[in-house]
Amino acid sequence: MYARGHIGLTLLILSFFLKYFEITENSLTLIFFGIIFSTLPDVDLKYGFKHRNLTHNFFFALFISFIFSYALYRASNDPQLLIYSFLGSFIGVTSHIIGDLLTVMRFKPFWPLIRKEISLGLFSSENKLVNEFLFLLGLFSFFSRLVMLDNIITLS
Ligand SMILES: [Zn+2]
Repeated sequence: MYARGHIGLTLLILSFFLKYFEITENSLTLIFFGIIFSTLPDVDLKYGFKHRNLTHNFFFALFISFIFSYALYRASNDPQLLIYSFLGSFIGVTSHIIGDLLTVMRFKPFWPLIRKEISLGLFSSENKLVNEFLFLLGLFSFFSRLVMLDNIITLS
């Protein structure tokens, strides 16, 4: 999928979590890194690595989220930042993998535990209609949840 499709799917997933927390600095951290990391696995395309290989599995999601949030924690000494940057980056990368699993091209999301290549093959990752639909659906879902929650941004 394209970046817009991945961002849309991540917003859609995050919108389901929104009802469980108020909009605070912590949840904004989670949302921010969720969106940023939702496009990260496709760096393999940019740097000429085999596509949907090393960066497209749940082990990578755990690994990169841990490294990233731990580095932030070491720099900030803020345990809240550790937790919410970890959750955000993990949800972002996981959402990317789920999005790509819907498409035609098979890959190994459970590598190295299970080496079977799978995908649901519902649509091509280049399908512009699906990508735009997911993007708009994610935006709509996310912002309508925000409005419904009637939350006040309480930055502490
Ligand atoms: Zn991808």
